[in-house]
Parts: sequence; C-alpha cells; structure tokens
Amino acid sequence: MFKKVNPRQNFVEAEHRHLKRWYEKGIIKKYLKKNKNAKKRFAFLDGPITANNSMGVHHAWGRTLKDLFQKFKTMQGFAQRYQNGFDNQGLWVEVEVEKKKGFKTKKDIEKYGIDKFVEECKKHTLHFADIQTEQSKRLGYFMDWGNSYYTMSDENNYTIWHFLKTCHEKGWLYKGHDVVPWCPRCGTAISQHEILTEEYKELTHKSVYVRLPIKNRKNEYLLIWTTTPWTLTSNVAVAVNPELNYVKVKQNDNIYYLLEKAVSCLEGEYKIERKLKGKELIGLEYKGLFDDLPEVREKRPKHIVIVWDEISEEEGTGLVHIAPGCGEEDFQLSKEHNLVAIAPIDEEGKFVKGFGSLSGKKAGDVPEEIFAKLKQGGFLYKVQDYTHQYPTCWRCKSELLFRLVDEWYISMDKPDKVDKKDPRTLRKKMISVAKKIKWHPSFGLDRELDWLTNMHDWLISKKRYWGLALPIFECSCGNFETVGSKEELKEKAVEGWEEFAGHSPHRPWIDKVKIKCSKCGKTISRIPDVGNPWLDAGIVSFSTLVDPKTKKVSYMEDKKYWKEWFPADLVLECFPGQFKNWFYSLIAMSTVLENTNPFKALLGHNTVFDECGEEMHKSKGNAIWFDDAAEKMGVDIMRWMYCRHNPTINLNFGYGPANEIRRQFFSTLWNTYSFFVMYANANNYKPKKGNLKKKNLLDKWIVSELHNLVREVTENLERYKPDGAARIVEEFVDNLSNWYVRRSRRRFWRSESKTDTKEALDTLYSVLLTLSKIIAPFMPFVSEEIYLNLTLGEKKDNTASIHLEDFPKPNKGLIDGKLNTQMNSVREIASKVLSERAEKGIKVRQPLSGFKVKGNISDKLLVILKDETNVKKIELQGVRSAKEAVYIEGSLDTKITPKLEQEGLLREFVRQIQSCRKEAGYNVDDIVSLDFVVSKKDKLLKEALNKFEKELKKELLVKNLGKEKQDVKYDVGKELDFKGKGKVWIGIKKV
Ligand SMILES: [Zn+2]
Ligand SMILES: [Zn+2]
Repeated sequence: MFKKVNPRQNFVEAEHRHLKRWYEKGIIKKYLKKNKNAKKRFAFLDGPITANNSMGVHHAWGRTLKDLFQKFKTMQGFAQRYQNGFDNQGLWVEVEVEKKKGFKTKKDIEKYGIDKFVEECKKHTLHFADIQTEQSKRLGYFMDWGNSYYTMSDENNYTIWHFLKTCHEKGWLYKGHDVVPWCPRCGTAISQHEILTEEYKELTHKSVYVRLPIKNRKNEYLLIWTTTPWTLTSNVAVAVNPELNYVKVKQNDNIYYLLEKAVSCLEGEYKIERKLKGKELIGLEYKGLFDDLPEVREKRPKHIVIVWDEISEEEGTGLVHIAPGCGEEDFQLSKEHNLVAIAPIDEEGKFVKGFGSLSGKKAGDVPEEIFAKLKQGGFLYKVQDYTHQYPTCWRCKSELLFRLVDEWYISMDKPDKVDKKDPRTLRKKMISVAKKIKWHPSFGLDRELDWLTNMHDWLISKKRYWGLALPIFECSCGNFETVGSKEELKEKAVEGWEEFAGHSPHRPWIDKVKIKCSKCGKTISRIPDVGNPWLDAGIVSFSTLVDPKTKKVSYMEDKKYWKEWFPADLVLECFPGQFKNWFYSLIAMSTVLENTNPFKALLGHNTVFDECGEEMHKSKGNAIWFDDAAEKMGVDIMRWMYCRHNPTINLNFGYGPANEIRRQFFSTLWNTYSFFVMYANANNYKPKKGNLKKKNLLDKWIVSELHNLVREVTENLERYKPDGAARIVEEFVDNLSNWYVRRSRRRFWRSESKTDTKEALDTLYSVLLTLSKIIAPFMPFVSEEIYLNLTLGEKKDNTASIHLEDFPKPNKGLIDGKLNTQMNSVREIASKVLSERAEKGIKVRQPLSGFKVKGNISDKLLVILKDETNVKKIELQGVRSAKEAVYIEGSLDTKITPKLEQEGLLREFVRQIQSCRKEAGYNVDDIVSLDFVVSKKDKLLKEALNKFEKELKKELLVKNLGKEKQDVKYDVGKELDFKGKGKVWIGIKKV
C-alpha cells in the first residue's frame, strides 16, 4: 500500500521534514560520495558569494541553477567537488563594519586599531557565511558545506602573491601616477572595473560659464564651461577641436570665442562678428583664474590653448577647461602637451594646503565660494543648474571625484618578457583565451571582448585595511620587489618575522616584516595598500584546488590534483557586472599563469526584479527576503520559477508568479500523483518491474512521450538550457494529466477488465517514477516525496533517497514519433471542438452527433477523440497521407435530438451523484444504494433514468436502485436541479 496522499498537502512543512531527514540520516553525505570513484568528472567552479549580508532571492536564482546542474551531473554519474565559495575580503566588508562601529573616516579606523578592525571584519564575514550556508541548505542546495572556500584564506592570499610575482616577472606590474576615480568617504581609488552602469546616478550640479581674458587682447575672452567648479582652481589649459566651427561674438563691449553651435548659451543680445575654425585659437594664452593661490603660483602653469580632437559639439562651449590633476583625459593630455598637473584634493576630497581659504574644505562644498571669487575677479559669465549622469561609489554611494595619485596597475599593453613563444600583451592573450570559452548566452563573448578591447590597465591597489596585502616592497632607490609565497617572505625577512608568524597575511601583522632591497641593500617595507577584491575571486581556479592528500594548494606543489579539475567545465553567475569583474579576473589570472581558459563554459543569468518589473529595494518596500519567500511559497516553487525562466531576461519575482506556477504546473503534477495513489490503493496495486510493451494506445503514447521527455531534458541540460528543459517538463505534465489520465480515467476504476486496470496503473506508476527522477534536480523536495512513496509506500527506509538515484536514460525504441504527432493533432482537434461547444453554450456532457475532420486518424485514436468531444460520429474527409489531421471549422453538428438530450441528462445525473458520493466521504470503491424520485411531468428526464438503469448502476457502484423515498437515514438526501429540465430527489446510503 502507498501512503495516503493529501490533495491539500502542506508543501513547506514537507520541505522541512525532508531537509531534516537528509542531513540527520546521512543522505547528503551519501550524495556527495555517490560518484567518488567515477572516471568521468564534472568540474563546477563556484563564484564566491559576498559574505556580507543574508542571501537574497537574487542569489537564490544562481544557486538554484548551480544546484540544478550539479544534481543532474551527479545523477548522471559524474564525480564532482561540490565546493561552495565565500568572498570575504574588501571594501564591502569594511564599510559594513564601519557602519556598525559608527566610524566616519579612515582616521576613526586607525584610532580604533587596524588589528582590532581587521578582526572585526573577519568576524563579520564569517557570521554571514554561516547564515548564507543555512539559507542555501534551506534552498535544497547540496554542497560539501564543511569544505567551502574562503577568499580570505591563507591559500587564497598566497596564491595571489604568486600571481602578482608572475606579473612582475613578465614586466606587467607597475606603479602608475594617474588620475583615478576616487571615493572621498572610503578614501580609496575606485577602479574602472567597479564603476558599473548602475553606479551612474542622475544628479543636478551647479555648472558655470567662465570667461578667460586672452592675453594682449583687450576685452577678448575664451568662454569655458564646467560642471565641477572645484576643478577650476587647477586649470592649466583650454582645449579646442581644430576642425570644428567656432565664432567670434560681440556682446556689449566684450568679445567672446565659443563654438558656433553653442551660441544659445549666451545671455542677452549679441552679434556674430566672424566665423573661424578651432585651429585659429591654438596657442593663445590667457590669464589664469586662481594665479594668486600659493600652490598655483608655485607650479606656474602656462595657461595656453591646446588641440584636442575628441571635443564634440554636443555640450559645453567647445572650449574645454583642462585640469590635469582632476580629470583622466586631462591628465593624458597633460602628458602629450607637457602641461603641469595641479592636484588640489587629499584622500578625503578636501583641498590640500596652498589653496588659501579653500584649504581644508570639501571639494563638493565650495562651488558658491568659487563663484564669488570668479565674480570678484571678473571671470564669472553665468551659473546654471545642470542634470547629468554622474558616477558614485558602488559601496557607499558617495559622489566620486577624480584625483591624481600613485596606484599599482597590471599593464594590458606591454609585451610578455618571459614567454618567448607568446610574447603578446596581456590584452591580446586574454582576447584569445576568452574566445576559447563557450558563452551562454552567446552575446557574453561580445560583451567580454568589448571590455577587453577598451579597458585601461587594471588598477589593483586600494588604500584600505581589510584585504589582500599586496606583496610589493618598495625602495626609495626606485626599485620594487614582489614576494611570491609565504616561504619566500620568511627567507627574505630581515626584520619582523617573529611578530608576523602565526598570523594570517593581513594588515597590520604583515606590515611588520621587512626585506632588503636587492638593488641597494636598504631595508624596505611593504606598500601599505591592499588588493582589489577581484584579485581574491579571480584566483579561485588555482587556490581552491587543495589536494585532499597533502592538504596543500595543488597548483603550488605538484599540480597533479589541480590538473584533474582545471579548467572547470562550468561557471555560472549573474552576468551584469561580471564581464568587468569576476569573469575578467578569472580569465586574467588564468592567462597570466597558464595562458589558457579557466573554464570551458559559462552560463550567465540576469537580474531579479519584483513582479511588476521594478527593481527591488529595501527603501521602496518591494524587496522580498529569501527566508520569507521560502516559508511562504516553498522553495520547490521558487526553484521552478528560476529554472523555467530564460536566463538572459530579467526575472519578475513574486508571490503572484509563484501562485501561477503552483496552479498551472505544481498542482497538476501533485493531483496526478494523488490520483494514482488513490486508485492504486483502491485496486490493491503492487508495482512490478519490467514489461514495457504496452497494448493500450494511450499507454503506448504516454510512454513514448516520457522517453522523448527524458531525451529532450537531457539534451537541454547538457547544453545548459534550464528553461528549455523545464518547459518541456511542463508540457509533459499537461499531457499526462489533461490527456493521458483524463482519457484513461475509466480504466482506473471501472474498467472492462482487471488486466486493463492493472496495465493503466503499471503505466502511470512507471511514468510517475521516471518523472520524479527527471524533476529531482529542479525540485528536490516534492520529487523526493513522490519517489519515496512510490518506492517504499508505508515502509520506512532511512537510506533511500531520490537524490541517490541515476538520471533516467531514454529508451529510443519506445519513442514513437508518429504516434506523438498524431496524438498531438487529435488533442488539437479536440480543443477546437470543445471551444466551439463553449462558444455555443453546449456543455461537454451533452452528446452531439458529430463533426468533420480533414485527414487521416486511426480507428483507435478516433475512439479517443469521440470520447473527448462527446460525439457519436466523426467524418473523415479527403484522406491524406499526411500525418496530421485537422478539424474542419464549423462542422460541428449542434442539433440536439431528444435521444441526445436524454443521454445528456443521464450524464448530468451521474455527475451530480458523483459529487454526492464525495460529499458523503465515500471511497471510490464503496458500494451504495440509491433511491430517486422524479416527477411525472419531467417526462424526458424520467424516461432517461429508466432507460439507462443498467449504466447508472455500473457507473455509480449502485447495488440497490429504488424509485421511492424510504424510511431510512440516508448519508445524503437532497433534491437535484436539472435547470429547466426538471428536478430529482435522491437519497444515497453506503451498503
Ligand atoms: Zn565610498
Ligand atoms: Zn633600493
């Protein structure tokens, strides 16, 4: 006997029950070991989740897909590593700890103590790693949770050292003096990789038009425009495009030069005196705006008009203010034109000494003061609000400034000094490597190549505390050294090793260690910078492959174990952003170390939005927490939502879509299974293996569809198309419930023969069992529930689980493509006929005489089609050799003869008694006695009931049929209404 199935099962409760059993009874351990000794391997490389917060529903999408493919490959018999990763280091963690401690600036951290701060960061991230682990378990994600990797581990940090040393040897590591995006709150450079499109916010700033007096020309001015007034303090030049059209304009007694297209910015009346090309202005000198500031006086800028071909006519005056200490492009131009660079702001974005009353003030706070000074000097033309897209810090959302600083870079464009066979630049090598990867979606390659082609050198340093300690030791003689391992550091240490020993390679302990400069012999210190966090995540295809025998990073030793798992077969991550970040750093590090691809295939998925397609935000109140979603909708439903969705499109997540899935798919599946168990138990059915040969056409067909399903799901999953696989399953479940079971219903309880019932149960049993295995990687809980009951019934066995089973293999011999196509066309015809009935308001229960079909349908299929459409006859016309048959629109004969009407009434009567049986709580096989009384005046009804007495008894399991109300207590006694066709009183009672 199977366990009784509750049609209104509490699925969330069941999920907790299975979860408990899996972990307590060692199912997970068995799962992880299932293919330990298998020859075939599936190397999945997990992208580390930032352990800085609880897991969100957006993480659950990726994690569901990761689990889907790993479970699928496990069922297929592949050995795997099941290693989850946590990302622990970097600014994101620092910012959270700063918030917790109420710190405002870096000074607060230093006052508190870097050692204590770093320990807090470690604690913080481990805390969230634990929470994320528990949440992932709840999701039904099976990983080797005790063996997760952490990017803050010694293994990870030291392997990055090795990478950086290799970069140095190749001639790619260098210190650059450059203008970089800078967060004044975090006090650090923000690399180009970190400024994603979403970091640009629409902001309104005060923009200013400034007139620069041309030297030796009385009352003639260059009109410039800027949105960052603070940078005017550091202006050294004005650039023009030599080919664009400019004008000389007279306004009052003054002459202005500006772009012809820009004249509308002039206030009041003006007269164009002359048109000219930009090149006529080149070389003009002008009077500086802030020449009296000490810092400017010292630098003595020339204030000259220079050429710049990049100037467009789209905004501004065509005369571009150049401040090489405050802008990336400005700085590039300064190198070409030999201009001085004035760097006005410090780490916190405040004016440094030498800027008069501005010194000590924040760059963002001074516009009004600047305007006043300009006005005083006679430079101000006008001030205007300006709304534009402006970059902000990805971590703290402060507006970024541009600052001239020394940072460390990995060069993209210098030749490889070491690899004689392939001396190409890192950029060129990475482009070749990226092309070796199979990108899903395929536009992923274009995105990656676009980035690789256009990106600057990789800025890897950050002036912060919690992160990879860059192993760079710099000497005042101009030399710098990199250390490639802990052992090497110990060997080279001349000071501070004892203080460091026993600590992780983090600040402040690592900073104690000093080495000797190999050029001049001076004792030198590590630069205080930490690394870009994408170094941490990028190294994992090397650092996480720790040989279980030696417990050491295999890549740094004999590489044997590493070779078994590198390159990964699959990485899977949310793609927006990662082309510049994780995908980039993985490829960069693998290219530097091995000049090859770190993974073979990549599946990217898009972003989670709310169900209206809006971005989810805590502040908007539309965010859904993972824990809430798990307990309200159940994770099987959540997982199905992720799996069935096209990964390239944003997913609208919410309870509405979850209910849709429950209604359309999940309940259909559950009801079919519940139906099976009910009739299997009623028939005392015991499953028997083997005998795949089916006699009944519907059995043959559903088995054929099942094996086709196995084949197609396998193909889709092997091609990393989760949505393709899930949609085919949905179609199958619809076929199973709304066609196979519906058309076979009678076979399960009132069949002509016991054998036929047995065959129908056999078929449905094997279909459900196979189906449960197919959906196991998608919906681990409900599949387990179904599987355990189908295989164990009321027995208990704590060693059994569907997740220890193999994935079904298709039996191609059982796939009958022709039958599948024909059945499909029969379903299509049926649905057309039924909708024509609905349009004309004729119930399906009312038999009709027939309709016409063009094409050929076998006799057996005709019977099915007649049953489904409830007609007496189907006329086949113009028999064609084609496989498909089509309904001839409008050919349904809707005339209802008295005979047909009586049959209809009988069916209606049967339906109503069935629902009385349900109301009385009878089992499907309970025998009853039925009494009914029908008034003489309802002649047609009375006749019908008399005429079909035999059918009635059989259909409704009636032993005694009476035509009078008796003096007994009926289980149900009531009047049935036949809407205009009369009324019948009935009473039923169990025998
Ligand atoms: Zn910031
Ligand atoms: Zn030196």
